[in-house]
This record gives sequence, C-alpha cells and structure tokens, in this order.
Amino acid sequence: MKKNLFGLTLTELERELAPLPKFRAKQIAAHIYKHGMKTFDAMNDLPKNLRGELAERYEIKIADIKKQLDSSDGLTTKFLLGLADGAAVEVVLMRHDYGNSVCISSQVGCQMGCKFCASTLKGLERNLTAAEMLGEIFFVNEFLGKVVDSVVIMGTGEPLMNYDALIKMLRLAHEDYCLGMSYRKITISTCGIVPAIKKLRDEKIPVTLSISLHAPDDKLRSALMPINSAFDLKSLLAAGNDYAQSTGRRVTYEYILLGGVNDTEEHARRLAKILSGQLANVNLIPFNPVDERTFSPPTNHAVKKFFHFLNTHGIGATIRKEMGADVNAACGQLRAKTLRQRITPLKNFSTS
Ligand code: SAH
Repeated sequence: MKKNLFGLTLTELERELAPLPKFRAKQIAAHIYKHGMKTFDAMNDLPKNLRGELAERYEIKIADIKKQLDSSDGLTTKFLLGLADGAAVEVVLMRHDYGNSVCISSQVGCQMGCKFCASTLKGLERNLTAAEMLGEIFFVNEFLGKVVDSVVIMGTGEPLMNYDALIKMLRLAHEDYCLGMSYRKITISTCGIVPAIKKLRDEKIPVTLSISLHAPDDKLRSALMPINSAFDLKSLLAAGNDYAQSTGRRVTYEYILLGGVNDTEEHARRLAKILSGQLANVNLIPFNPVDERTFSPPTNHAVKKFFHFLNTHGIGATIRKEMGADVNAACGQLRAKTLRQRITPLKNFSTS
C-alpha cells in the first residue's frame, strides 16, 4: 500500500523523503498544501524521474465524497465523506454573511452519550487522524475554490477525547506552508473534559473555546450528559473561567433549549447566577429534533424569554440561527441515517 503524504508536517515530510534534500520536502509541501495537487506528475519543479519514484511509493489523498446535500436557502451544504477504511464523517459548510465557516467532525461516532444527540447513538467507532481532520477542511476549500474563513470543531465526536491528533491538526493548519490559519478563527466545542481544557490552556494556541453546558445544575446536567458525573459543573466552570483569564478569549457556553426540560425562567435565573462574573457569553440552541430522541424543541416564546432574561441579567446571549435543518445539519443526523457498519462502544474516558 502506498503511504499517504497528506497531513504530514514539513519536518515529517523531510524525514520521510530523506535522503532527498530538505528543499524538496518544502517544494512538495507547497504543492500539497498551497496548490492542492493530488498527483506527483504535475509537480513541474521536480525532476521527472523523481516524480515517477514518488508516485510509486506515495499518494496524496483526502476523503472521497459520498453524499452532498444543499439546504433550500442555499446557505448550508452538508457532505458525507468516505475515509480510507470505509468509515464516514459529516462536514458542514455554512455561508454566513460574515464569511464561510466549516464545521468538522473529530471522531467517527462518539462515546459521550449525551441524551439529546444523534452522533453518540451507536458509540465511538474510532478517532480521526490529524490528516483526516485537516482533509475535511481541505475538502471544503477545494469545493469552494478558496480557503474558508473559520473552522468550528463541532461536528461528530468529542475533540478533547482525541487530543493529540486535534492539537497536531491545529498546529499544522496554522503553519504558513499549510493554511496559515489564525487560531482565533478556530473554535473547539467540548462537552467538558476538564483536564483536557487545562492542558489546552497550556498549549498557548488561543483558539476559541465553546463549552456545551445545557443545564444550570449538576442534577439536570448529569441526567442529560453523563460526562458531568466525571467532571461536575463547579470544576467545569472553574476550568472555563481559567481558560478565559489565561488566553483573554471569551468562552462561549452552548445551551440547548429542550422544551419543558431546561427552558424555564428559573433555569435562566440559575444559569445567569453560575455564569456571573465570567468572561463568557451564552449561545442558545433550540433543540433540533432527532428521530431516536424523545425531547421536544422549546416554544418560540420560551426561547425569547430565556434570551431576554439572560441579556437583562448581565449575561450576553445569542440565539443560534438554525441553518440547514432540511439537510439534517444537526450533529450526526446524516451519518446516523446512512450508517450501515456495526460500531462497538468504548467505555473509558481517557484524556491523554
Ligand atoms: N462533543 C462536542 C462537539 C460536538 S456536539 C460538544 O459536546 O460540544 C456540538 C454541539 O451540538 C454541542 O453543543 C451539542 O450539545 C449540540 N447538539 C447535539 N445534538 C443536538 C441537537 N439534537 N440539537 C441541537 N444541538 C445539538
């Protein structure tokens, strides 16, 4: 089998291609990452015999497209991408008025077990590699014919449970020879893996952190999100606050509004209380119905009331604009519908 060069850092390319001189690795990196080349044949500045030798040993491959769904308003496009081993991941392109944003997956499936989410229904199949995550971004760049303006790691999976590959991908995307992407244009969304949030703070890569909160007290949060039994609200809010203070970056707390479950004024009051004094804002997400889940969306009235309460009690809140509901853009819904393979759930929460 040929080795895939896509996703290697410059140092890894130099090592892989030794004893070729280092400038060759640089040329090849530019062809892969700047010019999007998929064959060696087109690399005109390499000697012809070298191109032939490279083609015998290596390939340059990102994912194959399996499905494309466009929302009726033309703003959202969802892709199902096929990976080398046959696994499939979802990627969503959102065309906002402030630029193009891509939402990528970090794992195939998810082991976190949140009760409202479709991505976790069949457990975790495997982690994505750094190359596969970077490939999701490149796929959309090639589709658009230009580099996306921002990246959110909010698709299927828990990014902080795939920590090393995530950090490798972020650093590579940031390199000038790759996408030269500013860390500020990247958002990581987590269900609250507290030790990994602390580790991320120390990486000195000022990405935006988004924490999926969804409940203002431990009892309700543990019922909705099993991870809360491992890392409770107090430790999560402390880690979020610490991240904000250390990086100077405002943390976003995501709050899904589930009709009749966590959407009353009393919940809003408790949420405002636990977030008071934090460098934070709240993004309210009206629940996106999932076939296999029994929750209901909130009423419009409840959403507006909740939003108003937070904003008049010192907590900046926004309501997530619903995008692409008609293309199953909510987490994991497309993949869940097309899933054929059997997946074995993993039980351990390891963060290293
Ligand atoms: N594991 C990470 C990222 C993936 S989930 C995390 O938990 O943040 C991305 C966001 O979508 C999370 O805030 C998640 O709670 C939310 N989400 C999941 N299912 C949803 C649904 N059916 N409707 C609305 N939001 C949902």
